Amino acid sequence: MYAPSEPVTVAVLGATGTVGRRLVDRIAAHPWFRLIEVAASERSAGRTLAETRGGAEGLDPRIAELRMTSAAGPFEAALVLSSLPRAAAEEIEPKLVEAGKLVVSNASAGRMRPGVPLVVPEINPGHLELISPEGTPAAGLVTNPNCAVVPLAMALAPLHEAFGVDAVIATTFQAVSGAGLPGPGSITMIDNVLPRIAGEEDKIVVEPRKLLGALDGGDVVLADFAVSATSTRVPVLHGHMVDVAVRLRESVPLARALEAMRDWRGRVADLDLPALPERPLRVTLDPDRPQPRLDRDLDDGMAVTVGRVRECPVFDLRFTVLAHNLERGAAGAAVANAELAVRTGRVRAGA
Ligand code: NAP
Repeated sequence: MYAPSEPVTVAVLGATGTVGRRLVDRIAAHPWFRLIEVAASERSAGRTLAETRGGAEGLDPRIAELRMTSAAGPFEAALVLSSLPRAAAEEIEPKLVEAGKLVVSNASAGRMRPGVPLVVPEINPGHLELISPEGTPAAGLVTNPNCAVVPLAMALAPLHEAFGVDAVIATTFQAVSGAGLPGPGSITMIDNVLPRIAGEEDKIVVEPRKLLGALDGGDVVLADFAVSATSTRVPVLHGHMVDVAVRLRESVPLARALEAMRDWRGRVADLDLPALPERPLRVTLDPDRPQPRLDRDLDDGMAVTVGRVRECPVFDLRFTVLAHNLERGAAGAAVANAELAVRTGRVRAGA
């Protein structure tokens, strides 16, 4: 198991954004990484991190004076963590890969591209084979899923591994921070629910199938189940909640389904990745949980909470699952994928 002997250098793209700020803070506090470059749009070019935050308070002094550069690079860092909007990511990330970088991205642009791994370490760490064999440093793009897909796929993973998932109906209740800056206005959101988030449902119906799919040569064969999704925006600051109904290939008693979720440790429990909690899923029997305000920050925002697990008279199983969209659903997800790439020898310190 590879452990870096000196810090792996990192550049953060979109460092002034909703996700990017959290990426910066996570990297600054990380035992393996050293933030050496930050980038955002032309609007922020030349400003220091401290200036973009209205002061240095709360910022690690070693990074406060880093200046925003162009997201197009060039970068010195061994590893690039991107939280660019889709259009910018689509244009910039492939060029950075061509220039020899390993890019770990939050953007949706590359997720479903053939040959690009879409990864949650506990679910499908082996999909990194798409960029290079274990132990071989790589240039390539690694993506993490949509922020509502993360809790959905993590709750489905133990069920799919144990019994096979056959069909899923998912309705999301998504926080406003999921929209990025400036986000929907207060007059739109207060006393209201938006019944659709443009483009979101298309991601929710397919990304869980890639995560739970099988490697076949240079691509992933999607898992064979259907997903029907409705995405809504609710007046919550952080934390995406998903109501899920699942039909399983093997009908099992409720207790066995609960046990499968409760006992799930995922596929990287032995890798000791710093961003990941010991238990990726916390299953609660409290009938009034999960709730965004009470549950989103568990384990530094990296634990996913499942509750209201019950029999469904139409499908087999029904439950509610919640994750912090900016941590488990974005910044923490990218950092965990970066850790996985380092631990499996795909990025080396000083590369
Ligand atoms: P955001 O708050 O709008 O931040 C966007 C960042 O990208 C800012 O740093 C911005 O810099 C920079 N940027 C904008 N246009 C750019 C351009 N043309 N070239 C270079 N940099 C540019 O967005 P966000 O919510 O952090 O989302 C970032 C990415 O993560 C998106 O792809 C999003 O889909 C994905 N994501 C978001 C969430 C979430 O919950 N918010 C969850 C999962 C994934 P300036 O400050 O200079 O404008």
